[in-house]
Amino acid sequence: MGTAAGLRSAGRTWALGSCGIFYLGIAAIAWGAVTWVEVGAWTYHYSDRGDYAWEQARNYCQTFFTDLVAIQNKQEIEYLNRSLPFHKRYYWIGIRKLHGTWTWVGTRKALTKEAENWAAREPNNRRSNQDCVEIYIKRPQESGKWNDESCNQKKKALCYRASCQPFQCSQRGECVETIGSYRCECYPGFHGPECENVVQCAKLEPRGVHMNCSHPYGDFSYNSTCVFRCQEGFEQRGADTLRCLPSQQWSADTPTCTAISCPVLSAPDQGELNCSHLYGDFTFGSKCAFSCQTGFALTGPESRECTATGTWTGDSPHCEAVACPVLSVPDQGELNCSHLHGDFTFGSRCAFSCQTGFALMGPESRECTATGTWTGDTARCKAIACLALSAPDQGELNCSHLYGDFTFRSKCAFSCQTGFALMGPESRECTATGTWTGDSPHCEAITCPVLSAPDQGELNCSHLHGDFTFGSTCAFSCQTGFVLMGPESRKCTATGTWTGDNPRCKAITCPVLSAPDQGELNCSHLHGDFTFGSTCAFSCQTGFVLMGPETRECTATGRWTGDAPRCKATACPMLSAPSWGELNCSHLHGNFAFGSTCDFSCQTGFVLMGLESHECTAMGTWTGDTPQCKAISCPVLDPPSRGQLSCSHVHGNFTYNSTCTFSCEKGFLRMGAEMLWCEATGNWTRHAPVCEEDGAPFLKQVLAYSSGTALALAGIVLSGMLIALLAKRLSNREEKKKLLNPTSDLGSPGIFTNAAYDANL
Ligand code: CA
Repeated sequence: MGTAAGLRSAGRTWALGSCGIFYLGIAAIAWGAVTWVEVGAWTYHYSDRGDYAWEQARNYCQTFFTDLVAIQNKQEIEYLNRSLPFHKRYYWIGIRKLHGTWTWVGTRKALTKEAENWAAREPNNRRSNQDCVEIYIKRPQESGKWNDESCNQKKKALCYRASCQPFQCSQRGECVETIGSYRCECYPGFHGPECENVVQCAKLEPRGVHMNCSHPYGDFSYNSTCVFRCQEGFEQRGADTLRCLPSQQWSADTPTCTAISCPVLSAPDQGELNCSHLYGDFTFGSKCAFSCQTGFALTGPESRECTATGTWTGDSPHCEAVACPVLSVPDQGELNCSHLHGDFTFGSRCAFSCQTGFALMGPESRECTATGTWTGDTARCKAIACLALSAPDQGELNCSHLYGDFTFRSKCAFSCQTGFALMGPESRECTATGTWTGDSPHCEAITCPVLSAPDQGELNCSHLHGDFTFGSTCAFSCQTGFVLMGPESRKCTATGTWTGDNPRCKAITCPVLSAPDQGELNCSHLHGDFTFGSTCAFSCQTGFVLMGPETRECTATGRWTGDAPRCKATACPMLSAPSWGELNCSHLHGNFAFGSTCDFSCQTGFVLMGLESHECTAMGTWTGDTPQCKAISCPVLDPPSRGQLSCSHVHGNFTYNSTCTFSCEKGFLRMGAEMLWCEATGNWTRHAPVCEEDGAPFLKQVLAYSSGTALALAGIVLSGMLIALLAKRLSNREEKKKLLNPTSDLGSPGIFTNAAYDANL
């Protein structure tokens, strides 16, 4: 058995990994420089007694040493090529193709590219089973290089012996030979002097994934392997299995179980989707409830569920807009609808508009609400209103309303009452802007000409509608003393004219005065004959005296002041019949007044003393004095001688009717009538008797003669005054005789009468 000085083979570690190569290589070079020639615990041995097939060679090495060498660096190769003897079949080394991969059999690690040391054109795998590797030692060419050979070839076994024992390093690392000892090069995943410590990975606590772990070295330690499985309906993402790597990292990220996806659902139009995702958006277990927006009704399933097969239950629902009743176009208006979701359905908005002149009453637009009803009330077009017109004062309004009282197109015609004229437009129309055409008309009373007060009068007008206009009434009145001629009032008529004629004030008339009898009238008329203000002066003819007012004035009452005067004949003193006389007046103008003529006369036996006829003069005096009736005188009787005379005088001594009784002294006889009466003739009834002695028979004769008149004689014994009157009368008569018949003293009838009268006496 050949033995070569054991050299520490640091190069073996080079194959472990690319990251360790550089570091260990440097270390090996550094160590090699010092220890290369030193004999360490690592020794090489070869079978000098015979050759073996590869399996035998390995068995040999494992029996007596440790194993076939595992050459892994050029320094080691150079050392072996220099140290070992040449052998024509060369030496087996510990590399073999396992499952098509060149593998370090000691470590069962694959040969790395960097560690390859093949001879040129090797491994050529000339025959199919060249699965083992030999090293050329001291070969003329390609010395130290490798060649693949059939494992059945017999070659020397190139063995090595290590201080390291199979169970050192806790079987968790490579035992590295060192001088007299070993060092554990822990396998990845282990550390510590004996590789007793296991690399820990993070504890896995996956969620939603079923995990089944095996922990060969401890919970979640190196090489812990966890297998993940997802529940039904889940899809795994990531590795099925995780292994805890030496780097303290898991070989992969923890897988996740993702719930199987169903197609993403979207909310139906106008609807909503309310999903509850148990495991993820739109995945297994997700439940989506459908609802529709307000105003939409769901057609189809209310909810769908994502099944384990990635499909949804049910069909897609959809939202249908709730329908509202169909709207109609308002009268005089228009309807303009926009339908979001369908004719007259939820969201439909209908705008209302009205024709010119109409205003929308109600909402400008209505919207179909979610409840299937329209917002707002029914819109309608109402004619735009104008202010209500009223009839002008004194006028009338006659409106025709097309669409409503005083609204658009309403036409109002104006008219005025009789007597009024329309000022302004005859008609107005309500326009679309709510205003009337034109201005407000008004009725103006028709004017009449201005009236003025009549002369001597006044005007008192009441103006109903304006000065001297229709309806004005003017009352006329006249000053005192004037009477209105014509209408008392005039009224301004509808035609602009006044009723009636212009009145005037006429002085009030008094009755026409006439001159009084025997008088004159002298009037002055201010305003007219015998009218108010007229003054009439009265005067009387000579001989007349005005009885009553000298003037009269026509008063306002139409009466004359005072009473009607008259012309009274100038009064003369009233005359009375003289005693024993008579008065016989003729009154021309009044009793005992101017013009009156009174004739005096006397009774028988009396004679008028004075003027027989009197006239009342203008002076109020009678012509002449009042005459008297004087008893006619009879001759004064003397008592007879020897006798006595006893007279009784009715009217005066020895005047008419004086009675004288004669008596005679005794012894004497009255010769003649005892009693004598003074007769109207101025004569005594008898001759005065004489007393004669015893002259009785004569006396008796006298008495018989005068018996018929005895009684009368008694009355005649009156006064002597009457006799005196009579005497006077007689004297007057004498004068009158002379006045009437101044040339004749005799033979006139008057004289005759007187003569007879005298004779009768
Ligand atoms: Ca070969």
